[in-house]
Amino acid sequence: MQDQPATIFRKIIHIDMDAFYASVEQRDFPEYRGKPLVVGGLPQGRGGVVATASYEARKFGIRSAMSSKRALQLCPDALFVRPRFNAYREVSQHIREIFSRYTDLIEPLSLDEAYLDVTNDKLGIGSAIDIAKQIKQAIKDELNLTASAGVSINKFVAKIASDINKPDGLKFIGPSSIESFMEGLAVEKFFGVGKVTAQKMKQMGLHTGADLKRLTEAEMIKNFGKPGRFYYQIVRGIDNREVQPHRETKSLGAEDTFAYDLTTLPEMEAELDKIAITVYNRLLKYELKGRTLTLKVKYHDFKQITRNQSFTTAFNDLETICRVAKQLMAATNTEDAKVRLLGISLSNFGDVVPRPRNEKEAGPGDQLALEI
Ligand SMILES: [Mg+2]
Repeated sequence: MQDQPATIFRKIIHIDMDAFYASVEQRDFPEYRGKPLVVGGLPQGRGGVVATASYEARKFGIRSAMSSKRALQLCPDALFVRPRFNAYREVSQHIREIFSRYTDLIEPLSLDEAYLDVTNDKLGIGSAIDIAKQIKQAIKDELNLTASAGVSINKFVAKIASDINKPDGLKFIGPSSIESFMEGLAVEKFFGVGKVTAQKMKQMGLHTGADLKRLTEAEMIKNFGKPGRFYYQIVRGIDNREVQPHRETKSLGAEDTFAYDLTTLPEMEAELDKIAITVYNRLLKYELKGRTLTLKVKYHDFKQITRNQSFTTAFNDLETICRVAKQLMAATNTEDAKVRLLGISLSNFGDVVPRPRNEKEAGPGDQLALEI
């Protein structure tokens, strides 16, 4: 293989703000500093969930997406505050501006997280590690907040790397160490491997990347379906997905792939109820109402259909989401159907719930907010 031209590696950085909402609150309100702080729904309310917990609160086992009631049980002294999205959007726009000093290839994943492709950085710095350091320093100097960065040659490894030395971390995983790094990685850390798949893998005696590597591509696909192909590549450090700037998400939703194909309507409805709750919580979190609901159904043979229904008035209540999703489901041919994935999304966010805001018009932060 010596005759092959040298491979040109991409330089990818994944930046992730540390305990974002909670850190902004602790920055702006000194009385919250050093305290277990939960940003999200209040424990007294119905269905409140933790959006972000401060590091002090995490010591008690409090995690994102946990119910606020549970969080209060774990730490009775925790302080609960409602999110201030205007403040977070402002910070988000500022970090985007910092990123743009180095590259225009920025793919935001949420308000506090983005991929950057700095293969050809604007300032000619060349070293992705140096760029990551500079970005972290700028965030500290200009915003008084910390971020963690992962640096590698692809998105997957960069994202995993940013999580390694949190908070205020910087981790570089270079081309020569990717394979050994992936071999040591626990299966549940692999992108797209959900709880159910991880459990299945463990039952098969597959605990790490090294275990996964022993399977052929055909075996991977046979056991884990289409994602098996992605796992096969990723465990070898191969991820050719590009950093996509200007990715605009105009819908908000959730979907779930099942360990076993669903074959009866009641089963499908039960799963739709669960997915609807996730969608409902996300809509609340971003204060959005949609006029169009879309149901996505993927069958065991990977054929996919979508069905949607639009209304004159925007909605975001759980009851309507469940009802419309089930109506659309019932209108598909469920007889003899083997369903492997269901998804619900809302779009057509014409009526944004009014909220106090400083911005004259919707900034990019609003688009970002939809991408969680
Ligand atoms: Mg974060």
